[in-house]
Amino acid sequence: MFNKRTKIKALLSHGVVDQEVVVMGWVRTFRNNQFIALNDGSTSQNIQVVVPLGSVDEALLKRITTGASLRIEGKLVASLGKGQSVEVLANLIEILGDSDAEKFPLQPKKHSLEFLREIAHLRFRTQTFGAVFRIRHALAFAVHQFFNERGFVYLHTPIITASDAEGAGEMFRVTTLPMDGSAPRNEDGSIDYKEDFFGKSTNLTVSGQLEGELGAMAFSEIYTFGPTFRAENSNTTRHLAEFWMIEPEMAFCDLEDNMNLAEAFVKHLIGYAMEHCADDLAWLDTRLAEEEKQKPQQERQEMGLVEKLKFVLDNDFERITYTDAINILLQSPAYKKKKFQYEVAWGIDLQSEHERYLVEKHFKKPVIVTNYPAKIKAFYMRMDDGCEPGKETVAAMDILAPGIGEIVGGSQREERLERLEARMEEFGIPVEEMSWYLDTRRFGTVPHAGFGLGFERMVQFVTGMGNIRDVIPFARTPKNCEF
Ligand code: ATP
Ligand code: MN
Repeated sequence: MFNKRTKIKALLSHGVVDQEVVVMGWVRTFRNNQFIALNDGSTSQNIQVVVPLGSVDEALLKRITTGASLRIEGKLVASLGKGQSVEVLANLIEILGDSDAEKFPLQPKKHSLEFLREIAHLRFRTQTFGAVFRIRHALAFAVHQFFNERGFVYLHTPIITASDAEGAGEMFRVTTLPMDGSAPRNEDGSIDYKEDFFGKSTNLTVSGQLEGELGAMAFSEIYTFGPTFRAENSNTTRHLAEFWMIEPEMAFCDLEDNMNLAEAFVKHLIGYAMEHCADDLAWLDTRLAEEEKQKPQQERQEMGLVEKLKFVLDNDFERITYTDAINILLQSPAYKKKKFQYEVAWGIDLQSEHERYLVEKHFKKPVIVTNYPAKIKAFYMRMDDGCEPGKETVAAMDILAPGIGEIVGGSQREERLERLEARMEEFGIPVEEMSWYLDTRRFGTVPHAGFGLGFERMVQFVTGMGNIRDVIPFARTPKNCEF
């Protein structure tokens, strides 16, 4: 009867004193042959289990080591010690699983995040990663809550796709053809994908947007929340080869509606975490403050984690056009002192250093940049009306967040068939293959818009973790696919 146990979170928050309880968990530390700090993952806090002196034989005491799993029967009592209001006075201790203290890699001391990445299969058992992944869970729940409350339909878009038109990034190929050179070939020597599993060349999806648009043309408002894959060979603290993305798509929606929804969404997620994960956030706040202390003064963040989240919640995001952003950069002391590595001119794709300047130095809050040059954005974004020749822009919007850079990328979509076809031609996208997509514009087209929010970047923002590898359970990055 395992389900007779009480989770530690429940015991600490509303356990009734002087009651018999059963707790189970893993030993974090064992002090003075008397005090066990036990954790079951339900909260960052451990419960203290007191072993009455002389009540347990030597052999059993020796097996209470860091990492071992225990079942404890005892009485919940008010604690005399500091740091906890209740503790368990044990009368029966059962070892469920031993953990050799010499070999268990997680010693009760501070380990570096890099080391913990190498033992990612065990890092859930640390305070920091316990906090990060409980928050990740809470945020995922809050995503569904936000859209469900607003009547959006959760649409599962395919993971395997045949379209590579989105151009969001390099793709991973999906095939069952042999790799040893014996794959069937066309006359010109190229591989004959007609013989492949799907009878055509297929890939893992980089975005569910195009399929999402099909859903929005029937349900009005949909969202996707699923894994996406990009074979981008960029080893940054912001990019994964496998990451989770949330993509709402709304009919009867323009760029401004889109921005309003995105801002409300980001704030909802932050607010939910602050309300439901206060303990874990407090722990991460302290962790981050200690990490910041190691940095030189001018590189330190001005606000603590919780202070930053509250600030973002309480303030409007700054909204500027791409053209304004370029002008701000051109006027900036950083530009005049030649501090930027990349050039600044109308038409460039904003580099990370430019985004960081706007967000962290100039506005000091999240910024939504809109109306980017058409040349640097995707084919499906709506052309702005009345542009100067040579300075055509599209109804795009990116949300840039302090410490993270781009967290949301979105746009109003081109709903006019002729314009869209012209753009596809410009980008060299075969119009026949995309006929299913163009049908949305042929039969009852409407103004519509949507965006993609990178879930891990959002988790990074809320937890203050500097490296994206530390906010997904098992990171997939170039040359790394462990566990
Ligand atoms: P970036 O310029 O940072 O590479 P992007 O322009 O390629 O981003 P989009 O194609 O607009 O990004 O994707 C939507 C969102 O998905 C981004 O705003 C970001 O939050 C997230 N994202 C994009 N690429 C990755 C990745 N490789 N790993 C994790 N999140 C990503
Ligand atoms: Mn990218």
